[in-house]
Amino acid sequence: MTASLPAQGGEGDLQVSLSALEHYAYCPRQCGLILLEDAFTDDAATIRGTHLHQRVDTPGNKGRRTVRTLHALPVWHDGYGLTGICDTVELHNDGRILPVEHKSGRYIPGGPADIQAAAQALCLEAMFQQPVPEAAIFSATDRRRHLITIDDALRARVLDTTHAVRALLETSHLPGPAADNRCRRCSMATDCMPKLLAGTRRYHQALATLYSLTDPQDTDA
Ligand code: SF4
Repeated sequence: MTASLPAQGGEGDLQVSLSALEHYAYCPRQCGLILLEDAFTDDAATIRGTHLHQRVDTPGNKGRRTVRTLHALPVWHDGYGLTGICDTVELHNDGRILPVEHKSGRYIPGGPADIQAAAQALCLEAMFQQPVPEAAIFSATDRRRHLITIDDALRARVLDTTHAVRALLETSHLPGPAADNRCRRCSMATDCMPKLLAGTRRYHQALATLYSLTDPQDTDA
């Protein structure tokens, strides 16, 4: 249960969105570009994700015999200072509550989506005042649900990431570029310029000559 973990948010603390947790877990700089520089850029993957979410982001409440399904449910956790929207929350007749996060890409076990789905579970626990021991991630790539267990290690990752995002918001410090394999699948690569800024020779050359009145071409010659 959430009660066993220390709270990091609270009244007066900056609220952290659940989507920011996923962005930060993927790459802190990606999160910073979105939150601090309003620099979100779409690519094919994000547009696919937007289309996918249009199907589940219409608020609603559907009932079947054994499960009631809520779509686009606003959730929050006052203690941790978290807020967001769950794509889908299933309320089962046996009392189970299951958040289901929809993703267009393939599921990566232990990846950023786990943090987002676990944070949804923590919010639901606080709101419904009962344990939410599992969450699911539906991948449109393999059209399967991937169940994750909300264990203590994952809860701690949620809180650590929440703390890190809040610190990013408070300091307005944009993290440095990762410049690794993540960048190949990142829609923010054009805004980020990871290779140019990651300590490469070209970056330092450009920095050194940025305010020089001498044409760098002349210096090179
Ligand atoms: S391009 Fe790379 S370093 Fe830049 S935000 Fe994306 S993953 Fe992070």
